[in-house]
Amino acid sequence: MANPKARSAAVTAKAKRRGPGPSSKVGTAQPPAPSDWLHRLHDPASIVHRAAAAAHRLGLRRRPLAKTEAGPVDLFETVTRHAKGGVRPRVYLSAGIHGDEAGAVEAVLRWMEGAGAAKWATLVDLTIVPCLNPAAIASNSRLGPDGLDWNRGFARLSRHAVIDALKLGVRARGPFDLALLLHEDYDACGLYLYELRPDREPLWGADLIAAAAKVLPADPRHSIDGSRAHGGVITRSLHNPAMRTRVARFGMPEAVWLSVTGLVARVCTIEAPSEYDAERRAEGLKAVIEKGLGLLMEEKEEEVRGGRGNG
Ligand SMILES: [Zn+2]
Repeated sequence: MANPKARSAAVTAKAKRRGPGPSSKVGTAQPPAPSDWLHRLHDPASIVHRAAAAAHRLGLRRRPLAKTEAGPVDLFETVTRHAKGGVRPRVYLSAGIHGDEAGAVEAVLRWMEGAGAAKWATLVDLTIVPCLNPAAIASNSRLGPDGLDWNRGFARLSRHAVIDALKLGVRARGPFDLALLLHEDYDACGLYLYELRPDREPLWGADLIAAAAKVLPADPRHSIDGSRAHGGVITRSLHNPAMRTRVARFGMPEAVWLSVTGLVARVCTIEAPSEYDAERRAEGLKAVIEKGLGLLMEEKEEEVRGGRGNG
């Protein structure tokens, strides 16, 4: 394994020396030049500026969830919640709860800055938290500055300023048709994902993995993280006793919380391989977002057609 921490510290120090550049200016939503974004993957200020600029262009409202020592945790949301007479699926995207997964944050920022998001912003109701744990991003650490794995604390009874604020903010925006939670994994041998089995068919995992195949191959392992995998897809059910044991033992992740609270119909946790270069990780995860939205829109339009047919 490379030493990402040392590499990141050097990158962060260099980014600090460079000072703010033109790409960080609010109001310009153009993606930064490659030399720029690569050196700022772990720079919370740059992330905040890029997200705010892109959200402004998309017409999304910024809702500050919490302040942290490394900067704000922002949620960006569609303002008008109802499309004129049409279907408007509701989508939640999050990244950066683990700070050593900066490619996932980059993917959300790129998606927000790209042409695809401009189209989707008119069709779906968006709720986006591009960077959940700025201090962990700054230190390239899986754990938060409190030493906790924030993605195991969704059932915790003790107060947690950021996770509590996130839960409130997300609850206020739900329920969602789809949640895509972007992560990265140093042990991954390619792209993989966890799909919590929804009440409806079909499952989307294989299509989501295939959408990124040009830049990220599927993880070929048959067993990932103690679970059976096929073509990079791990399907889990909340009704499975092993799943309950796992949550009781390790803590509740965001995906399970979204599901058990009934806040989301479909939820996938997507894991890009950390040892691939950041460009491929970001582009692969971005392709997954695009595909997820495409599948969702198809499903919603099908439901509308079916409803009309029956009525
Ligand atoms: Zn993660």
